[in-house]
Amino acid sequence: MGIRLNEDKEIVATIREGLKAKGGYCPCRLQRIEDNKCICKEFREQMADPNFEGYCHCRLYYKFKD
Ligand code: SF4
Repeated sequence: MGIRLNEDKEIVATIREGLKAKGGYCPCRLQRIEDNKCICKEFREQMADPNFEGYCHCRLYYKFKD
C-alpha cells in the first residue's frame, strides 16, 4: 500500500493553491470542519480500507495497493 501525488503536476499545483487559500481545508468541500482538513477523513478511511485503490476526492493523492 502506498500513496503518491497525482501524476499531473498542474492538478497538484491547483489543489495545493486551493488548500492554501482555504487554510488547509479541502478545496473540494464547502464545510470548514475538522473532518475536511487535508488529509480528510474520507481519504484516511480509504487509506485504511484494504480494498480501496484510487484518487482522493480532489484527485491530489492516489492510493495504490502494491
Ligand atoms: S486528501 Fe484529497 S480530498 Fe481529502 S482533503 Fe486532501 S485534497 Fe481534499
